[in-house]
Amino acid sequence: MRSLWAKLNLAWAFLLHFLKRPFQHQGYQAFRDNYRDDRLVPLSHVDKNWLMRFSRCLNCGICDTACPALGTTTREQFPGPSYLVTTLSRSTPDFWAAGIDLSHCEGCRLCESVCPNQVPVKEALEFIEAKALETTRGAA
Ligand code: SF4
Ligand code: SF4
Repeated sequence: MRSLWAKLNLAWAFLLHFLKRPFQHQGYQAFRDNYRDDRLVPLSHVDKNWLMRFSRCLNCGICDTACPALGTTTREQFPGPSYLVTTLSRSTPDFWAAGIDLSHCEGCRLCESVCPNQVPVKEALEFIEAKALETTRGAA
């Protein structure tokens, strides 16, 4: 009897799935609908290529020594390029929560000029900013 009940339940869920399908979003919007609560945003091929480049970071911290923004703000306001590249570029759900003001970055690219691994730090910060905005938009 329990087995029959389970099969009927399964059949009903299967039927509902197909009945709802024409009314559900597809593609990008479907992803947003399903993962909104997890604060996940879709990553395009271009995004993934950027993430590969950011992942070359060794977390050596040399970029922090060259960053002028770290001399004028606290680490809470702006934790510095090495933190942002190593932590946030690899964890999109955290972008929204960080509450970091990236406007402290002066765009000087001194961080990149001293980086031993040619990590595009400025682009990493722009990537984080764009994804944070996208995540927040979906959280409404
Ligand atoms: S971005 Fe470059 S300089 Fe900065 S921590 Fe990573 S590897 Fe080191
Ligand atoms: S581009 Fe931004 S993060 Fe890099 S050194 Fe300049 S102020 Fe610091």
